Amino acid sequence: MNNLLKNVYENSPIFLQNIMTSIYGYVLSKRRFPKNQSELLQQLKELEFISKRELEKFKLKELQKIIIYSYNKVPYYKKLFKDINFNPNNIEDFNDIRRIPFLTKEKINLQPNQLISKEFDQDKLVIHKTSGSTGSPLAIYKDGECNNRSFAYWERLRRNHGVKIGDKKATFFGRAIVSKKQSKPPFWRYNLTQNQLLFSIFHLTQDNLPAYINKLEEFAPLYIESYPSALFVIAKYLEENKININLNLKCIFTTAENLEADKRELIEEQFKTKIVDQYGSSEAVVFAGECKYGNMHIFPGFGFVEVIDEEGNPTDGLGEIVVTGFLNKAMPFIRYKLGDMVELDKDFKCKCGRSSAVIVNLGGRKDDLIITPDGNQVSRLGYVLKNNSEVKEAQIIQNDIREIIIKVVPNKGVLEINKDKIITSIKKRLGEEINYSIVEAQEIPRQENGKFRYVVCNLSDKQKEEILRS
Ligand SMILES: [Zn+2]
Repeated sequence: MNNLLKNVYENSPIFLQNIMTSIYGYVLSKRRFPKNQSELLQQLKELEFISKRELEKFKLKELQKIIIYSYNKVPYYKKLFKDINFNPNNIEDFNDIRRIPFLTKEKINLQPNQLISKEFDQDKLVIHKTSGSTGSPLAIYKDGECNNRSFAYWERLRRNHGVKIGDKKATFFGRAIVSKKQSKPPFWRYNLTQNQLLFSIFHLTQDNLPAYINKLEEFAPLYIESYPSALFVIAKYLEENKININLNLKCIFTTAENLEADKRELIEEQFKTKIVDQYGSSEAVVFAGECKYGNMHIFPGFGFVEVIDEEGNPTDGLGEIVVTGFLNKAMPFIRYKLGDMVELDKDFKCKCGRSSAVIVNLGGRKDDLIITPDGNQVSRLGYVLKNNSEVKEAQIIQNDIREIIIKVVPNKGVLEINKDKIITSIKKRLGEEINYSIVEAQEIPRQENGKFRYVVCNLSDKQKEEILRS
């Protein structure tokens, strides 16, 4: 929404906001779901279950197609491939693309227009701006076909779990649908066209939670889509106050943040349903979602996935994910460093029958690493406090190479946090050379887009480089 519309929306009465939400929902669904959607969904379903051999062939073909297309239509790649003397018509196996240098956000931001295909009119493309909460912001242009297909994948995932667009759903995402100034319910707006109740995640305070719980029960959604951190706040409140929420959910979809095992357990227990976790990115280059056995499969038609170590070589362990998207011709991303840490099992034999790789470990944002004075990059620190019964939520902040602040929200009824215990467990991971301090807080602020971060490393790129080089 542009600023003028945002202003009009914010200053309208709530019934009008509901109407506007529905109209906007209608426009979005027109844009997202084409007439041939059922055909498309059928295609994607077949693709999910093709044999390993067919799958490899398919991926190579798609990879060749997008690389050749990019060479012919996208100025950035034309120049790049010429410079490195790379012939896009000579790709015979997956290793051949390893000569193409990685694409990064920084490179795109230097010359964004060079990444846009000459075949498209920039003004007619769908634009998506990433928030830039970690690293630099980015404007991504997508063509209509890519947009349709991206949403078809989401719909595929829903249907794999017995629900679909149009079924009653409640959502908890970062869209500012309720003014921050509003202090009384309703903290939700209704989108009639999709039978969707959008809850604001910016008003989830202890005082407001009873209203959220009542509204959820009254609306009785069939499923929920949410950031994990938003539902965690509600689940924790239900647990602490021994409230038995009366819902009959088919499932909950979580996305956009790391879902830790203990949080998942609590949400599933309190909402009395299973979670289906999804992994993707606003760049529309990768899509993964859990099957009914809880394994997170990469959806093969979306893009080609590599995992690299620090030196940029392929690794079977935890490493940075690098993707080449198949869907977006308007702005093709080839060997794009997404900034997330993952570990794949390429030969996982899942009972569901899908042969695509499974993400066995989602390690969070690469920027969410803490760097120790001896140059180690430590990930997954959120887990350090996992089994600490005194801690409700925590955030680890690095402002300096030798200084770590741990913000802690105590659980209800905890009068004093055992700080030594926390520091001892963190020291085991990060060493003795750092000064640790613990700050108790009532709550941990979310980012502007409503997402929660476990680890915030505020070192500059230059500082990081210096330490890693020494
Ligand atoms: Zn499976």
